[in-house]
Amino acid sequence: MINIPKGTKDVLPAQSYKWQFVEDCAKKVARAFNISEVRTPVFEHTELFARGVGDTTDIVNKEMYTFLDKGGRSITLKPEGTAGVARMFIENGLSSSPLPMKSYYITPCYRYERPQAGRLREFHQFGVEVYGSPSPAADAEVISAASAFLKELGISDVELQINSIGCKTCRAAYNAALKEYFAPRLGEMCPACRERFEKNPLRMLDCKEETCKAIAANAPKILDYLCPDCANHFAEVQRLLTAQGIKYVIEPNIVRGLDYYTRTVFEFVSTAIGAQGTVCAGGRYDGLIAQLGGPQTPAVGFAAGLERLILLMENTSVPFRPQPVPAIYLAGMDELTRQKAFALAGSLRAAGIAAECDVMERSVKAQMKYADKIGARYVAVIGETELSNGAANVKNMADGSQCMVPFDGLAGYLSK
Ligand code: ATP
Ligand code: MG
Repeated sequence: MINIPKGTKDVLPAQSYKWQFVEDCAKKVARAFNISEVRTPVFEHTELFARGVGDTTDIVNKEMYTFLDKGGRSITLKPEGTAGVARMFIENGLSSSPLPMKSYYITPCYRYERPQAGRLREFHQFGVEVYGSPSPAADAEVISAASAFLKELGISDVELQINSIGCKTCRAAYNAALKEYFAPRLGEMCPACRERFEKNPLRMLDCKEETCKAIAANAPKILDYLCPDCANHFAEVQRLLTAQGIKYVIEPNIVRGLDYYTRTVFEFVSTAIGAQGTVCAGGRYDGLIAQLGGPQTPAVGFAAGLERLILLMENTSVPFRPQPVPAIYLAGMDELTRQKAFALAGSLRAAGIAAECDVMERSVKAQMKYADKIGARYVAVIGETELSNGAANVKNMADGSQCMVPFDGLAGYLSK
């Protein structure tokens, strides 16, 4: 017996309706915001993520699935969706297409992490990327799309936390203040934070270790260091959110600690799924496309973790759109009537109606039992009388009522 690899999950037949619901909601919201789907490869050159995610991040330092392919190239399974889309944008010269480019993806992601509730090695993201607009309106639109997605799912138990991490100018002064604050406490902090202190002190605010978290809680706040342009941008984002009735709280410790992340950052957080509470995270990354060798292009986006959303919905009893059931089960008795049941099922299916018939060579009694188990809405037994009359006795399984329906009227009857 070969087991599933650690940190991965199967979606079983009886569970897939949850995924379909979540993905349909994502697509519906994308349509409403006129966001087009894009698909990029599951693997890319390792260099793309090293530069596009950043080599001081946990993702690049510890979590990537990297291997040499048979041609000796270093290849990495995508740990997130943005870098691939940015590469696609640059490689296809999309900066000369009408901007903004608004795209979304639903993709598996791979990170070598310690598996726990809401943290897997293969997981899935619904992400949105808007390229080409420096305006706070784009930030607000992206946040509004994320919020609409959660609403479409029926999730209300989340808090939108926003922050601004400024630009290069504000960051220089802020990094100096952080270093001054953390320097005397460095001895108590984890080895990763001691390294972050040297390379990118902003990331120390994102540490998951309790001691580090407690120390970081009182660190200087970036919002006190924003330059006037960044402060105005942040204020305008807030005005636009308020104008749309989107509630938020300002959480000064949210960071995306890379050089090319700028200004707005945000997270949707739930307390109902334990420590892994962030179901959706995003922000502005005006430096990313240039960093990857493309033309300077402002960008803003988010990614939502689908496993965490499903977990949240399960834990808080948010209903999923139910599993569709077959409209009718057509039972046959002997060779001829079974053939008829099979043919009727075929023409109903061609008309887009979910019909089932026996492929297990079961007795009529066992077929009825099965029809009940799979929740068929109607059942019809095709016997000799039915065959000669050209009509089926269709039984409504919900109320037990019966109705004679000519074979050629079945599709019409069932689609009522
Ligand atoms: P965390 O702080 O929880 O590690 P992150 O900052 O690494 O999250 P992002 O890179 O921002 O996460 O990814 C966006 C979203 O993808 C997260 O908010 C989360 O919902 C989901 N996600 C990230 N890593 C995992 C994982 N290993 N398993 C399941 N979902 C994940
Ligand atoms: Mg992580």
